[in-house]
Amino acid sequence: MIIAIDGPAGSGKSSTAKAVAAHLGITYLDTGAMYRVITLKCLRAGIPVTDEKRLSEVSNGTIIAFTGIPPQVSVWMDGEDVSSAIRSDEVTKNVSDYCAPTVVREALVNQQRRIAEGRSIICEGRDIATVVFPKAELKIYMIASVEERAKRRLEDFKKLGVEKNVEELMREIEIRDQKDSSRKNSPLMKADDAIMLDTTGMTLDQQIEWIVEKARALQ
Ligand code: C5P
Repeated sequence: MIIAIDGPAGSGKSSTAKAVAAHLGITYLDTGAMYRVITLKCLRAGIPVTDEKRLSEVSNGTIIAFTGIPPQVSVWMDGEDVSSAIRSDEVTKNVSDYCAPTVVREALVNQQRRIAEGRSIICEGRDIATVVFPKAELKIYMIASVEERAKRRLEDFKKLGVEKNVEELMREIEIRDQKDSSRKNSPLMKADDAIMLDTTGMTLDQQIEWIVEKARALQ
């Protein structure tokens, strides 16, 4: 079974999908982390987003791996644990630009499909139900108000000891949403047959239960 979850930044996809994976004993795939790895590598190497040739080399030549059991998942780039590095402000601010070119998307979508081969998987991102797995058995489009999403991000940063304010985070989220929804290639959008889940005011447990119930009904 494939469960596809799409939605804007901070709508609750990652934490919910990890917990659902643990509940159902299926694989969890964070596609945003894959785009973040490519962005990190390009930023470190000083590759501009306009350099298609080098972007293609990085997208096809980087070994991206995941280890651990959800919710404790580590992300690896060519053998280096980059779990924290890919969540830096610099990567977050640049990822929507580096993930947009066709060469990057083609390379990563192929990898995502290979990872899913022969497995039950819950996969989250922006184009999972529309492009990566259009035949997924369960498609969910998660949303939440910008205020709520910024507050959740604030809590994440607090845990990391990073000072931020809600207004700044709301602005950053809106910019990223706008870029992700308006790009030509695989824009963020709800698949026609996806079920909408508005997580504003919902607890994490309620979100998990909602998806687990829908998934069990299909098993
Ligand atoms: O989910 P996360 O916030 O980590 O994703 C980081 C960025 O990666 C998104 O803002 C989006 O630009 C890009 N992304 C994408 N397609 C996906 C997953 C993420 O374009 N399937």
